[in-house]
Amino acid sequence: MTEHLTVVNPSLQERIDATPTGMMHWSGTGPAGKTCFGCLNFDQRKLRSKAEREAPETVNGACDRWRRHFEGAGEPKRRRIFDARTPACSHFREPSPQEEA
Ligand code: SF4
Repeated sequence: MTEHLTVVNPSLQERIDATPTGMMHWSGTGPAGKTCFGCLNFDQRKLRSKAEREAPETVNGACDRWRRHFEGAGEPKRRRIFDARTPACSHFREPSPQEEA
């Protein structure tokens, strides 16, 4: 339905298209080469299969920072699941060696 609409700001439209709902900020605004999978705020469910344990970066998850930001007191938990390989946003937080263990 929108295929004939003019895109006024192509670079903004690219960011919108690349950013799944549930990210704290635009995809690709974080450190070069980093993805949400490597971020301390990324929350994945328990890895179940052998394939998931061998390639955890392929298992989708949610941004916990986004959840905390938009979750109101007493409301049900809000999570928006997206691809762990999505390029990181500017709120990317590298786990410290203690947090990785
Ligand atoms: S980089 Fe981190 S803070 Fe940003 S959307 Fe991904 S998980 Fe959330």
